[in-house]
Amino acid sequence: MSLFTLSGSPTASLRPSPPPPPEPAPQPPVRNRVVEEAPRIASERDELFSRAESLAWRLSADLGIPVRLAVTDNRSTMVSFRRGGNVLQLRLHHMFLDAPEPVLRAVADYAGRGHRGAGGLLDEYIRGQQPRIRQFRRETDADLNPVGRCFDLQTIFEGVNRTYFQDGIQARIGWGRMPPRRRRKSIRLGVYDHQTREIRIHPALDRPEVPAFFVEFIVFHEMLHQLFPSTGRGGRRVHHPRAFRDREKAFPHYVAALRWERENLGVLLRG
Ligand SMILES: [Zn+2]
Repeated sequence: MSLFTLSGSPTASLRPSPPPPPEPAPQPPVRNRVVEEAPRIASERDELFSRAESLAWRLSADLGIPVRLAVTDNRSTMVSFRRGGNVLQLRLHHMFLDAPEPVLRAVADYAGRGHRGAGGLLDEYIRGQQPRIRQFRRETDADLNPVGRCFDLQTIFEGVNRTYFQDGIQARIGWGRMPPRRRRKSIRLGVYDHQTREIRIHPALDRPEVPAFFVEFIVFHEMLHQLFPSTGRGGRRVHHPRAFRDREKAFPHYVAALRWERENLGVLLRG
């Protein structure tokens, strides 16, 4: 999965003091094109993007050929490349976005100049960056089961994602574990983990007396957390910023969902 693909021919403008053309160039200035394959939180995405962009330019200037860079979140392949014509197609794990200079030089040597010897330094860097590589995806998958007795959360998630987010939310979803039975005053019906991008829904909702629109609303709410991360205000976290609340109110069954929750809280609390 690519986070970004950048392409273009930035080298021309990076060469030191090119002689000015006699006339203005007929075509528009070369711009890096970006294909976004995995939308992320806007601020995070912007930051990753500008770092990816400068890395593409940096490598292109070093090698003197256009570099088409895709930034990935792969688990097994950290560096792969293909040279076609006069273009280097390069896929790099995002750990390289803030790699030190010698490592970037090694990337250029290895992928751009075919110096196999540079691979050693890359291996060493990758070993040191292990914590940034997604791990144990499979175990977590098994742990997060979307299929309940009454509701399939994956189906609900996909429907909500298509209808309200243009398929822009990237998350996995499943039922949470049933907590030990005891008297409760409140219940947390869903939770979103920014780190793992996982949504867990309280199993108390997996019952025939719970209307589908209410489960959809809870899923919708957790998905909004990816779009509108909590903000810090004077040391206090605001988990549902203004933009979050506004967007939440746009859910067509918003009023009905709140009313249902109010009227049925007792049922939910009994678990
Ligand atoms: Zn919330």
